[in-house]
Amino acid sequence: MPIDLHSHTTVSDGALSPKELVELARKRGLSVLAITDHDATDAIEDARRAAAPGLEILAGVELTVHVAEREAHILAYGIDLRDQALRIALEDLARRRAERARAIVERLVGLGIEIDFADVMAASGGGTIARPHVARALVERGHASSLDEAFRRWLGRHAPAFVPKQALAPRVAFDLVKSAGGVGALAHPGTFRRDDLIPVLVEAGLEALEVRHTEHSAARARHYEALARDLDLLPTGGSDFHGTPGHRSRLGRPVVPDAWAEALVARIHTPR
Ligand code: AMP
Ligand code: MN
Ligand code: MN
Ligand code: MN
Repeated sequence: MPIDLHSHTTVSDGALSPKELVELARKRGLSVLAITDHDATDAIEDARRAAAPGLEILAGVELTVHVAEREAHILAYGIDLRDQALRIALEDLARRRAERARAIVERLVGLGIEIDFADVMAASGGGTIARPHVARALVERGHASSLDEAFRRWLGRHAPAFVPKQALAPRVAFDLVKSAGGVGALAHPGTFRRDDLIPVLVEAGLEALEVRHTEHSAARARHYEALARDLDLLPTGGSDFHGTPGHRSRLGRPVVPDAWAEALVARIHTPR
């Protein structure tokens, strides 16, 4: 039965609500689905309530860390949702994301774009505020024809309204994840493109590597499978499903071996 260890909902920048995502997972016949919204875990309980017995919802979150001035994404699996330190850290990240979105809006206004922070808030639906929500507001106001164009013209790393995201130090992130009973994986190393920095993350507490991902070619996946073996990291995989227009991820793809999910779940310390 298919497994997907990387997915987003409306709680961050996905298009489907937790309930709708679970419904799609049921249609695709998934046996395990990890929900890994950016900086937020609010989808997990709703998803568990909506899931039929044959579908296990694995609690996850995608955190951003800074390493050598680069942004790396860490997928935390099996975290205890009641863990106080993690909850406080996620609340703080949410506040910082809101401040950043305000700064992006200010830049856009400075560039002569008519946009309001309220537009961005409305697009975020009250969950994690991310750049795709600013992009959606830009499209709705007619300043770009697609999310992709909004990123290219305004929001991308080299575009005029780019504001960097606040991120955790790797050690802080992995300590939080571990004390909440979870296991940390490096997300999409193929888009991070800094294999040389992976040992630094291992030193800080990294335990797994996302070998299979929508953005990884077969050759890249083989490369990361070998690297995971060499570095003694657990292999994981997922679609990074967002369900938004222009995002080419498909839930349940690429295929993730049962044994990978089993080994990951066995490493988790949170009682479920
Ligand atoms: P943020 O976390 O606020 O920096 O926003 C990053 C998110 O933007 C990523 O998680 C992607 O889902 C999304 N993203 C990045 N580039 C694009 C793009 N060209 N079009 C649409 N979404 C994008
Ligand atoms: Mn995203
Ligand atoms: Mn990511
Ligand atoms: Mn993701």
